Amino acid sequence: MFRGYAVKDMELNKLSYYIHEEERENSLQSILWFELLFDGVSIENLIGDDKAIPYYYFEDEDFDLPTFFDYQGKKYHIIGVCICGDAGCGSTDCEIIKDENFVKLKIIFRGGYKPPTDFMFMFSRKNYDDVIFEIREKSKEYKKKRENKLSK
Ligand SMILES: [Zn+2]
Repeated sequence: MFRGYAVKDMELNKLSYYIHEEERENSLQSILWFELLFDGVSIENLIGDDKAIPYYYFEDEDFDLPTFFDYQGKKYHIIGVCICGDAGCGSTDCEIIKDENFVKLKIIFRGGYKPPTDFMFMFSRKNYDDVIFEIREKSKEYKKKRENKLSK
């Protein structure tokens, strides 16, 4: 007998994040970092690759993770950059597949490294949108705070 595939039977992952504030001696170089957590686990613990995203990647009005590059019509998005803060130096990326209700992240590691496990995560659209929205708001707040501090 055919059994329907009920949405409620699908196991969704949970996206959350952790904030690190890195104070450097030259306050111009201080950085707020956002570390994404997948079911509470950091990218570092999943694989040990570039793990967090600096606030300045969230300054535009996009509704997704920052776009690293477009390649053959596909967008690659950033989930972590090198500790120097430059995605051009190194990054962990993902493809985002979205519909009305769900968001899938297919994670691609640095240097085309293919992990033994399939790193595909699926979140509810609301969970994903809320996290990105919050990170963008916090990035903007931090930027403002920082500019005020610097102008004094
Ligand atoms: Zn670097």
